[in-house]
Amino acid sequence: MDCDVVIFGGGAAGLWLLDELTRRGDRALLLEAGQLGQGQTVASQGILHGGLKYTLQGLLTPAAREIRDMPEIWRQCLAGRRNPNLQDTHVRSQHCYLWRSDTLRSRLGMIGAKVGLQVAPQELSDADRPAALAGCPGTVARLEEQVISPASFLADLARQHHDRILAIDSREGVQLTLSAPGQVTAINLTHPDQPAPLQLRPRQVVLTAGAGNDALRVQCGLPAGKMQRRPLHMVLARGPLPLLHGHCVDGARTRVTITSDHDQAGRTVWQLGGQLAEDGVSCDELNLLHRAHAEFTAVLPGIDLSRVEWSTYRVDRAEQASPRGSRPDTATLIHEGNVTTAWPTKLALAPQLARMLIECLPAATNQTETTATMAAKLAGWPRPEVALPPWESARNWISLTEPGTLRRAA
Ligand SMILES: Cc1cc2nc3c(=O)[nH]c(=O)nc-3n(C[C@H](O)[C@H](O)[C@H](O)COP(=O)(O)OP(=O)(O)OC[C@H]3O[C@@H](n4cnc5c(N)ncnc54)[C@H](O)[C@@H]3O)c2cc1C
Repeated sequence: MDCDVVIFGGGAAGLWLLDELTRRGDRALLLEAGQLGQGQTVASQGILHGGLKYTLQGLLTPAAREIRDMPEIWRQCLAGRRNPNLQDTHVRSQHCYLWRSDTLRSRLGMIGAKVGLQVAPQELSDADRPAALAGCPGTVARLEEQVISPASFLADLARQHHDRILAIDSREGVQLTLSAPGQVTAINLTHPDQPAPLQLRPRQVVLTAGAGNDALRVQCGLPAGKMQRRPLHMVLARGPLPLLHGHCVDGARTRVTITSDHDQAGRTVWQLGGQLAEDGVSCDELNLLHRAHAEFTAVLPGIDLSRVEWSTYRVDRAEQASPRGSRPDTATLIHEGNVTTAWPTKLALAPQLARMLIECLPAATNQTETTATMAAKLAGWPRPEVALPPWESARNWISLTEPGTLRRAA
């Protein structure tokens, strides 16, 4: 089967690109080795950043400049006014809150946050504060950054492109034929559920497999080592908690970033990132939970944590390697032969990455195979599921029954 573009990896980056290519008229297919969004997207907090985090030192940094147009693009897609149409994606919140703990550094951070943003924080009066932040000392602000459910975003795009997304067995079921390093002429697929193999002959190959990109590059005859991983140890809390989305700012850092959702049993779940998750990398689970509990008492005074259950998960952010291992300022790609390796760096930057890729991938010409005939040939091939959010797969939930005492939750 001749294809214009074959994409490896169905997280935010691959699915957004698939949508753009399909609308451009390319015969594009996406191959997924596990579950859609399994690496980072489904584990992310779903905040459509506009650069706040990168202005906290009081400057409009290159990272903030790159990301500040993203909230408006997403807003239009989520409202169905722009493609991809994301009207079926669940928007958890239309905005984030920004508050500070009562330290001098924290106060300075709030000032820095006002610099250079399209979506600058708006200070709230006491009456307009959400109940969860009623007991916070100092300023509380609202920031027009939407928060989406990453799982529903993945499901939304996967449903629209069901015909063009195939499950693959990346261990034994994928063989690449190369004419030169970085020049893929054929992708040979076998699947235990399929009687016959499938051969794809791509004009272009795009790797958007997150942490899987390094191994795929080697399969394409390209050097490994172009990728970096930045680990996080995230905290989950579930129970009688208010819905809350936002950042507690401390100096130039986001001390804790909280996003909320409901689990399948209807409980509120909080996902806790920010500095807590960066520092938590060197902690074991129990140490991190003690730290999280102490952080909460400090940054959210007045919230009753007595019936809350806690868990943690580890996840790596996968990005193009940068000289000192720092976060790249923007989405990045490397184009070699007919293979392009791409990382969005942030979920919010998926539209930017797709635009960069569209610009460097030549548009389709002289198609003998139409999208409809391709879909018919692939009708029986297995399709991947969307990955479960981290709180549905977390096993070790822990209750803090008395101060300093931890016990396993039932
Ligand atoms: C805890 C956490 C919180 C975050 N919060 C935010 C946030 O609030 N806002 C924001 O903008 N960004 C956030 N990010 C960053 C954001 O999640 C990532 O930048 C983005 O999701 C990366 O998307 P991706 O498609 O490149 O990779 P992934 O989501 O990792 O997807 C890669 C896909 O490739 C598949 N795959 C792997 N190997 C292969 C293979 N060999 N063949 C085929 N398929 C393969 C995987 O199964 C997966 O489906 C967060 C990241 C983390 C880890």
